Amino acid sequence: GRKFFVGGNWKCNGTAEEVKKIVKTLNDAKVPSQDVVEVVVSPPFVFLPLVKSSLRSDFYVSAQNCWVKKGGAYTGEVSAEMLVNLEVPWVILGHSERRALLGESNEFVGDKVAYALAQGLKVIACVGETLEQREAGSTMDVVAAQTKAIADRISDWKNVVVAYEPVWAIGTGKVATPAQAQEVHDGLRKWLQKNVSADVAESTRIIYGGSVNGGNCKELAGQTDVDGFLVGGASLKPEFVDIISAAT
Ligand code: 13P
Repeated sequence: GRKFFVGGNWKCNGTAEEVKKIVKTLNDAKVPSQDVVEVVVSPPFVFLPLVKSSLRSDFYVSAQNCWVKKGGAYTGEVSAEMLVNLEVPWVILGHSERRALLGESNEFVGDKVAYALAQGLKVIACVGETLEQREAGSTMDVVAAQTKAIADRISDWKNVVVAYEPVWAIGTGKVATPAQAQEVHDGLRKWLQKNVSADVAESTRIIYGGSVNGGNCKELAGQTDVDGFLVGGASLKPEFVDIISAAT
């Protein structure tokens, strides 16, 4: 089976004091065991060492981005090698905020995923359509193209988690219905089956992101092809613990 996966994407939020508070809340929480749920929190780069050194040992850390190739003269960037050097096991790539605000194309995201995996990182690869694309009926085409750009560049999917994050659901309070999420997750799994392999389709976790909270997580988690969550706003709050517990 696919182990439930809950990621907390803190985005560009937090002071050192707030970060310490969140870590304390997580460290004190009673949650299902590591055999049941894999928990990964993703603070901004500058807080990674603090969080890594203070977080409970059954939770893991992730960066929110990394550079597309080997480090060097790329002012302002952080390389995959640096994350490996700091023993940060995970990285989020292709988040819609970076696609939209920083112009990251499908191909660029695919290159990043391939490079990060080759350095030994595990990758949370994000896909998702805008409201306009959904209304035009092109949701599946959009997420398939985003996934294809990754599939064209990698062969081993064991260290990849796919996050389906419809842009219209991110930070809006407009969560996808369980049926809407299930439909796209099922579509992505079928896409993987047809274009990669039955094995990869069966074993790759496809998690949902977009206005997940303590109240809506249970029903979403009950969908056959929803293997966990990537949580934004609610991952900064104590209710993140309830979302982790939706695994059971
Ligand atoms: P929200 O949970 O705040 O909608 O953000 C989702 C997200 O973008 C996680 O990566």
